[in-house]
Amino acid sequence: MTQALADFDHASLVVAHDDAHAFEAVVPPIVQTSLFTFSSFEEMAATYRGEQSRPVYTRVTNPTTRLFEEKIAELEHTEDAIGFASGMGAISSSVLAFLEPGDRIVCVRHVYPDAYRLFETLLKRWKVETVYVDGRDAEAVAAALPGARLFYMESPNSWMMETQDIPALTALARQHGVITILDNSWASPVFQQPVRLGVDLVVHSASKYIGGHSDVVAGVVAGRKELVDIIRRTITPYLGAKLAPFEAWLLLRGLRTLPTRMKAHEAAGLAIARKLGELPEVVAVYHPGLGNSLPPGLSGTSGLFSFELDDSIDIPAFCNALKLFKIGVSWGGHESLVVPALVTRGQNAGPNSALDFGVSERIVRFHVGLEGTDALWADVTQALAAAKR
Ligand SMILES: *Cc1c(COP(=O)(O)O)cnc(C)c1O
Repeated sequence: MTQALADFDHASLVVAHDDAHAFEAVVPPIVQTSLFTFSSFEEMAATYRGEQSRPVYTRVTNPTTRLFEEKIAELEHTEDAIGFASGMGAISSSVLAFLEPGDRIVCVRHVYPDAYRLFETLLKRWKVETVYVDGRDAEAVAAALPGARLFYMESPNSWMMETQDIPALTALARQHGVITILDNSWASPVFQQPVRLGVDLVVHSASKYIGGHSDVVAGVVAGRKELVDIIRRTITPYLGAKLAPFEAWLLLRGLRTLPTRMKAHEAAGLAIARKLGELPEVVAVYHPGLGNSLPPGLSGTSGLFSFELDDSIDIPAFCNALKLFKIGVSWGGHESLVVPALVTRGQNAGPNSALDFGVSERIVRFHVGLEGTDALWADVTQALAAAKR
């Protein structure tokens, strides 16, 4: 498996389908239209009967959006993909396509907070129960799977960056006929292709690394055609959270530099994480790249990780003193960001996956951007000095 992943040529996949744009443009056009006209009644009728496939209406399909979907399917080494107006659009649509009242979801703990809130509020109202497991504990997963409809993973997960043994857990899920969905936003398709590891459907917040410039909110799901078609036929037309052509075009722009950016985030993220780990006021660093080996199928690490500060540091003062690291949610762009777990304590948004699963108030999350390691490290050390109690 590892050898096959090492041979994976991202660059050639990123430029796939790029040889036939109108006017021989090197960048694909934005087909900014809501509808597509027909030359005759017969052509429209044939399209409606499904005898020919062509765009009809942008809520369903659009050529710019489709090009993005084709590239993601290639990068994820799978057959098909659907672009969404947000990562949550991709997550909610993928989950809803396979659930009925009375179903149970098995979910790894510390998932993205709004995915957790979707399970704990909307899906609860529809009589879908979600049970949470430590995704590092294969026995706990095996015990929870029988009778479940979906197994939802996020590797690494939010706040604590816990990884899952994806080949082992998906093999367990297959034994029990449970559909697997994995949020791959952290690693991006550059460092992890979950479908190759046995996952049925992979979802992304494309607002993060795939977009890469903090100027677009978007999402995508990818997987076998037969499963993606169920989402396309039974959910996307009605919930309508489809990716728009301009956003798709921004994502196509982002994809061109994705492999290069990921390597830069990896190097800078690891450098800052290692330096933090040497400081006396840092109790622990949660970064999947600091152990002896990466989990199976993960071939690199990104710029998002967390760490725990001891009581000698005033966390609000630390965040306020940082200059290059801006205080803000999201991640995956060029800029460095900081979010402390402490700030979610007062969040007025319903169930809180950090709070409910005991994430310490001393945890701080960093997204390490592309400003340069030396400048970023100087920023961290001056902010720690300023925040010393
Ligand atoms: C941001 C994020 C999401 C949600 O994506 P949006 O594009 O903001 O809707 C889902 N999963 C993870 C891991 C995220 O970081």
